[in-house]
Amino acid sequence: MESFDELLRLAKAAHGHLCAGQILGVRMALLGLERLGIADPRGADRKRFITYVEIDRCATDAIAVVTGCRLGKRALKFRDWGKMAATFVEVATGRGIRVVAHEDSRALADELYPHLETKRERQMKAYRELPDAALFREQWVRVAIEPADLPGSPGDRVKCAHCGEGINFGRFTHVAGERLCLSCASPQLRYWEP
Ligand SMILES: [Zn+2]
Ligand SMILES: [Zn+2]
Repeated sequence: MESFDELLRLAKAAHGHLCAGQILGVRMALLGLERLGIADPRGADRKRFITYVEIDRCATDAIAVVTGCRLGKRALKFRDWGKMAATFVEVATGRGIRVVAHEDSRALADELYPHLETKRERQMKAYRELPDAALFREQWVRVAIEPADLPGSPGDRVKCAHCGEGINFGRFTHVAGERLCLSCASPQLRYWEP
């Protein structure tokens, strides 16, 4: 694995800027991978685990960089819960480590480094220097990964009987004997309107 600074450099390049979230995300991912015993996440170990993230903020990009888990590889799962948390899961066993950033770490940063001028500087220094236990809560969890959520084969590609659009990964439902995409089956849940 690259050094912390090298990972931070990669995260900055992928995310577009260096921010406290990048430092926090790199730290979260390193901790989770260490707990799972994953030493080469983007190489030899890349198929051994997947990652669930619970927020779409800066840190999530850094987690994707360090773990190599990407949406397009089906190895990054997004649960839109607005929490600074991520779970790193061993695919073979469903054993996972959920890492949550402590809510009070920002206040702690202000307390520890009052001599630094901006909140951003104080946070970046705290996220870089504080030990894991001061920044994160860890919890071993079990994750039942649905077979349809695993990386790999897209399954039979099905055509929606209503809109005609193709559907991968079994994401259809039966309505009155027809196979419908989730959008046609539940139009009230659509994020768009024509
Ligand atoms: Zn950022
Ligand atoms: Zn449809």
